[in-house]
Amino acid sequence: MTGSDKAGLAKRAAWRTSIAGALTNLTLTGVKGVGGWISGSQALIADAIHSLADLLTDLIAFVAIRLGRAEADESHPYGHGKFETFGTLLLSGFLLATALGLGWNLVSDLLAGKTARNLGTVALIAAGFSVVLNELLFRYALSQGRKADSSPIIANAWHHRADGLSSVAVLAGIVASLAGFAYGDQLAAAVVVLLLLRVTYRLGRDAFDELVEAAIDRQQQRAIAETIARTEGVRDCQTLRARRLAGEIVLDVHAKVDRLISVSEGHRIAELVEHRVLQKHADVTDVTVHIDPAGHAHDASRAAEAPTRDELEKFVESSVEAICPAAEIADIVLHFTGSEIEAELVLSDFPDDDAAKARLEEALTEDDAPFAAVRLLQKL
Ligand SMILES: [Zn+2]
Ligand SMILES: [Zn+2]
Ligand SMILES: [Zn+2]
Repeated sequence: MTGSDKAGLAKRAAWRTSIAGALTNLTLTGVKGVGGWISGSQALIADAIHSLADLLTDLIAFVAIRLGRAEADESHPYGHGKFETFGTLLLSGFLLATALGLGWNLVSDLLAGKTARNLGTVALIAAGFSVVLNELLFRYALSQGRKADSSPIIANAWHHRADGLSSVAVLAGIVASLAGFAYGDQLAAAVVVLLLLRVTYRLGRDAFDELVEAAIDRQQQRAIAETIARTEGVRDCQTLRARRLAGEIVLDVHAKVDRLISVSEGHRIAELVEHRVLQKHADVTDVTVHIDPAGHAHDASRAAEAPTRDELEKFVESSVEAICPAAEIADIVLHFTGSEIEAELVLSDFPDDDAAKARLEEALTEDDAPFAAVRLLQKL
């Protein structure tokens, strides 16, 4: 199976399990909501809201994908990933308010000594239905995830199992209430509200981290740095900045390369770094590579103080003119490392005169000359 076959398989499996998950959560929101309303079971109501939360979370991700997650346009040049983040943050705010509201109801009912009065068959059926449906969904998603070898689908499957366990708590609470333990339903509701708060916290924290561009997991960052450092031509990976965008990772990298290579070779290495990282780290969707010559610390203000190519060319021209006027300058290659400048000077019609060569070299590298070292080359 090729990589793209595998990706296609995972995509189709993700699609099927998402649809199954959305339909399940839609059904469960309705069944538990109505069941809770008829029976007065707070646990069922809380669990219905959990199903609604899961449904909305999937919906936000779905809309984000449809809108073209990574597609940039003129007004959003970095794409629309943050829309999803913002939507998720809003959702977690809504969930937090709802969970707190449910908790408040629970406490005030307890204080007033109120318990669910109409608990019975309807509540039992609604909770039992939720347990069974979530378990079926869990098994289906798990087998799909394993077949496609996709960890996000498998993780989702385990979420459905957790949802099923939440409904088991609801069922147990209702049974306990029916068996005579009056607060059974409320105890179960408290458990469900706590689970809902946990979901809310995770959603909110991830979205918040994305919004403030928090660093990614250290281990993952180290693994990416290692991939970069192992790329042919890279001597060292200096600065690696990573942030999340709609769950995916965006990178800024400073890679050190041999200081005397050409711009095009440096660019080729940058392309290779980009390719290696994108291939090896599926979460990463965008890599910006900055190339630094080895022995050079990136320093923009120092660059402003260094002489320009124009000034250096004029200096070289006047020195050549003064010392060996017959020579023609064919090419000047400049190397900037730290605060030092070196040059390769390619000359044609250079006289076979070692004394003149030595004098030219000295003129170019003496104390108030701009060069730390010069190599004179004869154009063939
Ligand atoms: Zn859930
Ligand atoms: Zn490029
Ligand atoms: Zn730099």
